[in-house]
Amino acid sequence: MITIPLVNLARQYQKLAPEIDRAIHDTCTRADFILGRAVTAFESAFAEYLGVRHCVGVASGTDALHLILRALGIGAGDEVILPANTFIATAQAVWCAGAIPVLVDCDEKTATIDVAAVEAAVTSRTRAIVPVHLYGQPADMNPIAALARERGLQIVEDAAQAHGAAYRGRKCGTLGVAAAFSFYPGKNLGAYGDGGAITTNDDGLAEELRLLRNLGSSAKYVHTRMGFNSRLDSIQAAILAVKLPHLDAWNERRRELADRYRSALGGTAARLQPIEHAPWTSRHACHLFVVRSVDGHRDPIVQALLARGIGVGVHYPIPIHQQEGFNREVHGEYSFPVTERLASQIFSLPLCPDLRDDEVDVVLEELGAALDAAMAMPPA
Ligand SMILES: *Cc1c(COP(=O)(O)O)cnc(C)c1O
Repeated sequence: MITIPLVNLARQYQKLAPEIDRAIHDTCTRADFILGRAVTAFESAFAEYLGVRHCVGVASGTDALHLILRALGIGAGDEVILPANTFIATAQAVWCAGAIPVLVDCDEKTATIDVAAVEAAVTSRTRAIVPVHLYGQPADMNPIAALARERGLQIVEDAAQAHGAAYRGRKCGTLGVAAAFSFYPGKNLGAYGDGGAITTNDDGLAEELRLLRNLGSSAKYVHTRMGFNSRLDSIQAAILAVKLPHLDAWNERRRELADRYRSALGGTAARLQPIEHAPWTSRHACHLFVVRSVDGHRDPIVQALLARGIGVGVHYPIPIHQQEGFNREVHGEYSFPVTERLASQIFSLPLCPDLRDDEVDVVLEELGAALDAAMAMPPA
């Protein structure tokens, strides 16, 4: 049977193996495993790539968000607005900081945060907005920035899916007071384990974050405040430094593959609609290629494709406000029609830079067959 995974990380490693193996070997030889030379080198390289003053490597994207909020002094009693349509880590990071995650619905066409809903959710307790550049597409930052200015709020970008994306010519990760990146293996820039980074142009915030990620330590055994153990490993940083120079070409290939899907799906537009490219998106990082099945057949289509070895996914099947772990008594009872509708209709097709053109053809062929089979069934 054919197998086309959602993301083919094994194929990427095959191509980079000599360089990556050497980078791991060099780190082991130096034995500077914690905050070693590779971490500093990668932080400089990533800051330079984005054109920001500081990059602080941390243990994960979730920690990156959590530590930014802490460094901004956001905590108990403070409200932080974020989209309901995101990976749950965005909300959990707010919870980690002791603040209240306030969810809002998303825009039907782009699936990114609904700016009018953000405006309606601002209260006297609101301290920050966390726009998520979902699926690699920037959130609409200009109106969010205007609102934040007017109401005195911080903007913390969740750029976990948006390495290399740009909003009206400006790179994601440079558009708020600070941004959180994840290097989870499947992300556009992925480590071989957990990892994350914070980018910021604020010198004081960067200094505070360097303390917070390392148990408040300003020098060995000198702790100027209480903090966390949340460092990016040297081995992960060394791997990321090998991959970073490939990021733009990989994203270019992702866009090419997404265009291929998009034009092929044109004919079936009534039944399958790709999430739209927003007019403000000058560079889409194409982290995921997400389509909507509008006629109530998403689940049988997904099941049929999985049964044929096509690694489709759903991002995300259960919205945050409907998760068992999300405490409704504390955080409120929500209903978000757009997010809920998307959760029941969307699925993601295989997409990664190492996906071959002939594999896209196979995916499209299998997708056509799955759509035809679903057509013969009554809608769910
Ligand atoms: C992956 C992801 C995170 C969390 O990153 P981790 O490194 O897994 O902690 C946060 N937000 C979004 C939108 C993500 O996709």
